[in-house]
Amino acid sequence: MSTRAIDRYAYAHDASHYLLIPNEVIKAEDTDHVERKLREAFASGVPITFRSGGTSLSGQAVTDSLMIDTRAHFKKIEVLDNGARVRVQPGATVREVNTRLARFGYKLGPDPASEAACTIGGVIANNSSGMVCGTEFNTYKTLESVVLVFANGARINTADKDADNQLKSKLPELYEMMVRLRDRIHSQPHVVEEIKRQFSIKNTMGYGVNAFLDFTSPIDIITHLIIGSEGTLAFVAEATFRTVPIKPHVATSLLVFDSLQQATFSLSQLVESGLAAIELLDSTSLKVAQLDPKAPSELQDIQVKSHSALLVEFQELNQETLKARIDGAQELLRKTYCVKPSTIS
Ligand SMILES: Cc1cc2nc3c(=O)[nH]c(=O)nc-3n(C[C@H](O)[C@H](O)[C@H](O)COP(=O)(O)OP(=O)(O)OC[C@H]3O[C@@H](n4cnc5c(N)ncnc54)[C@H](O)[C@@H]3O)c2cc1C
Repeated sequence: MSTRAIDRYAYAHDASHYLLIPNEVIKAEDTDHVERKLREAFASGVPITFRSGGTSLSGQAVTDSLMIDTRAHFKKIEVLDNGARVRVQPGATVREVNTRLARFGYKLGPDPASEAACTIGGVIANNSSGMVCGTEFNTYKTLESVVLVFANGARINTADKDADNQLKSKLPELYEMMVRLRDRIHSQPHVVEEIKRQFSIKNTMGYGVNAFLDFTSPIDIITHLIIGSEGTLAFVAEATFRTVPIKPHVATSLLVFDSLQQATFSLSQLVESGLAAIELLDSTSLKVAQLDPKAPSELQDIQVKSHSALLVEFQELNQETLKARIDGAQELLRKTYCVKPSTIS
């Protein structure tokens, strides 16, 4: 535990513009340590904020109260079923986990661009995702189980067969609340429809409330509500994920359009073509990218006025499937507003 100014100021920022100086900083040594601190803080009413990679962009990892660093001593990674599953502690970075999985031909589904620094705890609590995972391979879809430590210190492994009963006996109020909220949502068709609408697209804002529609038992609901909870519901002490196969055959292209509108009009056709990643660059982004001395000539040569571009990528398991994708895309590109038929390679 530290109340030294140097430690408190070192934790006063995450990657956002917020500045909050914690009163006290603790580097948790293990889950028992976190559990003890949660019990003490619960009894005295002191708010706690967990901090892992500290790459949050909206102040999720800063506080003016008690900060618990849960990165340094939570690095264990256990590859299961030849890489088809992985059990990890929350301080392991996405890159560390993927490096361990690579030799088995697998990776995590969630793929935030901050993968070198962001950790499993942060990915779950922020519901972080990236260019490729979409709504199919995000944490909600790939998380199998978690070990949770709640505010009163109660610990539950959601993989245990009797986990729902454990929740009922250790946290009866929370259990009842899950049941009440679930039933209340189900009794209001317009709320059900609104949740379905919001989660039919990529939606990483706040608690995974679609859990109330997708699951029945309170333990399954809470397991998925944790995703996006920003450390407010429980400490994630361990997580087991189903992984996704690495698709090593890739083809990439920069598709240039006269305007932002034309780029976005072409999107639905491009999505249907099976592209794994599509990233929009508006004219300002293009101009900034051109400043990079390593920018390729296709990018340097654009006389940017109101242009926009889509950086696209196919990812496939084998060369034949990739070739079929590329052949199909050439035809498709002729039908879009793309100003020069770009080669995908
Ligand atoms: C350059 C850059 C690129 C980025 N790219 C992306 C991107 O592509 N996609 C994306 O979604 N986000 C992106 N982010 C945002 C950020 O990196 C992610 O949200 C990341 O997953 C946060 O992880 P972290 O380990 O840094 O968590 P932190 O910032 O340390 O914490 C995030 C939240 O999780 C809570 N928390 C941490 N550990 C635990 C735990 N064990 N139990 C319970 N709660 C916990 C914290 O209290 C906090 O609320 C980017 C950020 C940067 C700086």
